[in-house]
This record gives sequence, structure tokens and C-alpha cells, in this order.
Amino acid sequence: MVIDVDNLVKKYGSIIAVDGIGFRVDSGEAFGMLGPNGAGKTTTVEIIEGLRTADSGQVSVLGMDVARVPAKIKQRIGIQLQAPSLLPLVSVEEILQLFGGFYERSLPVDDVLEMLSLQDSRKVLVKNLSGGQQQRLSVAMALINDPDIAFLDEPTTGLDPQARRGLWSVIENMRGKGKTIFLTTHYMEEAERLCDRVAIIDHGQIIAMNSPRELINEYFNESAIQFEMEPPPSEVILKSFPGTTQVIVSGSEVIIYSDNIPATMSAILKYAEKTGLTEQLKDLYVREPTLEDVFLKLTGRKIRE
Ligand code: ATP
Repeated sequence: MVIDVDNLVKKYGSIIAVDGIGFRVDSGEAFGMLGPNGAGKTTTVEIIEGLRTADSGQVSVLGMDVARVPAKIKQRIGIQLQAPSLLPLVSVEEILQLFGGFYERSLPVDDVLEMLSLQDSRKVLVKNLSGGQQQRLSVAMALINDPDIAFLDEPTTGLDPQARRGLWSVIENMRGKGKTIFLTTHYMEEAERLCDRVAIIDHGQIIAMNSPRELINEYFNESAIQFEMEPPPSEVILKSFPGTTQVIVSGSEVIIYSDNIPATMSAILKYAEKTGLTEQLKDLYVREPTLEDVFLKLTGRKIRE
């Protein structure tokens, strides 16, 4: 075990940002913290990194108490910082050299540039990098000290799908090398793809924790039927369709969890016909449940509104 968090609490005035969180992360694991904006992810991560102090609770990292020896721990963990806001007027190569100098042990800058496919941008000033390059640089800065644990806080937020996939392969490579990865994200598919285990966090509490596959199996024997209809059927009507176990209506978008797909589908089509709304029924399809559905089922809300 490389991270052990027990009953962590952090308040900002009357806001309880972290409300009794506890979990453990094993060496070599890719652990994800998934939750909507404001759920308490950054606060939790920054307490573990030793950047913020908790009001109460225990955090041990690599067997050391964060509250007592933060400097010692910082040598052995990688923290993703937002480079552009720190030092916009230095080059990629210079910022990595500078940060490498802060550590007792650091990797050659060339190795890190290669890992993040930043070799061609080595002389470029940080402020002139594209969004995707800046994100990759911020991950490079988390890896420069060859850390035992890399903390990546929403590493792909704001990236286009191609840049996001590029960064996913970097993270998968790190995972392949046996590094422990602690990732926060509000992208479900990112957590599903990259993490061995995920803690779903909402209002400062862990509401479910397991491997993505087991979380889905734990909460679903059903499949999801999704469609759009304007106006959508009322929840009472949707719940009366055979096979339906739960419904989520958001605007004109409807999700029905069903354990009898043919029966539910046929009820949807009959309803549309009977109400003369066949033309309004769009994008009807059946899919397997995802982590997004787990979050919806637990909270009744989408993770990203
Ligand atoms: P995001 O995805 O938006 O970064 P998050 O899950 O990381 O969200 P936190 O940033 O940890 O959530 O915030 C949790 C709660 O604590 C939010 O209500 C936030 O407004 C509040 N909060 C966070 N930092 C501070 C601070 N320094 N002062 C006051 N309130 C804060």
C-alpha cells in the first residue's frame, strides 16, 4: 500500500469540501477519483500531496505521515502543476531542467521530452505551446523526478479528443512501467479506460469504490435505452413501461434502465405512435451501462451538466 487515507475532513468556512473520506491505494495501481465539479477531488489530492492541511484525519504516503514529513514525501511523488501560469517566458527544456533541479533524483530531460512526445517543442516558450502541449508539459513536470506515485489532477480537461487520446497513451505507458498513478477526472470514459479502481466522489464523500467493471456489475443487471423526444414522456409513464427499473429525464433526453429490452422498446414505440410523437422520437438506441450510469443511478444527476 502506498497511500492510506483515513477519515479525512476539510472545511472552508461553512463548506464541507471533504467529508470523512477514506481509501487505500496499492503500489502499481492506477487509482481514479471521479466526481463532478466541486465534489472535493482537488482538495483531497492536495492534502495527500502535502499542499493543503486537513482539519482532521490521517494521510500516509509511502509509509510516511504527510502532516509530519511533507518535504520527504515530495521528493518521491510527482505533482502535475500548470506550467503556463507559472513560467510563461521560459522554454519547455528550461522549465524541465529547472524543476529537475529541485529534486535529489531526476530523469534526463531528453527522456521526459520523449515520453511526452515534446522533443520538437523543446525550444518553444511555454506561453506559445498549444493547449495539448501545455497539458503534456504539465504531466512531464510530474514525471521529471521519476516519482513512485504520479498525481494527475484532471490531466485532459480542455483537450480535444485527439490530444486526450495522446495523453491517455502516455498514462497507459506509465502504468505499464508499474508506476502508481492517482488520477482525478470528471471524464467517465477516461476513468473507465485508465483506472484499475475508481472512487466516485460527490459532496465530499466517496459514494462507491471498486474497479470500473465491478462497479458497473454491482449496480446494473440492466442495459440502458436512450432516446430523445420533445416533449419527453412523464416519469410516471416511463416507469410504467415493462422492464423499466429506473428512468432519468434531462430536457428532451431520456435514459431508461431496463431488464427486458424488447418489452421496453416495444412500449416506447407504442407510446410514440399512440401520442402521434413518432416523428419526435430521435436517436433511439440500446447500450451497455457505463460509469456515467453508475453515477446517475447513485445521485440522479449527470456528472457534467
Ligand atoms: P473541480 O473539478 O471543479 O476542480 P473538485 O472536485 O476538485 O472540483 P474542490 O476544488 O476540492 O472540488 O472543491 C470542493 C469544494 O470546496 C467546492 O465547493 C469549492 O468551492 C470549495 N473550495 C475549494 N477550495 C477552496 C478554498 N481555497 N477556499 C474556499 N472554498 C474552497
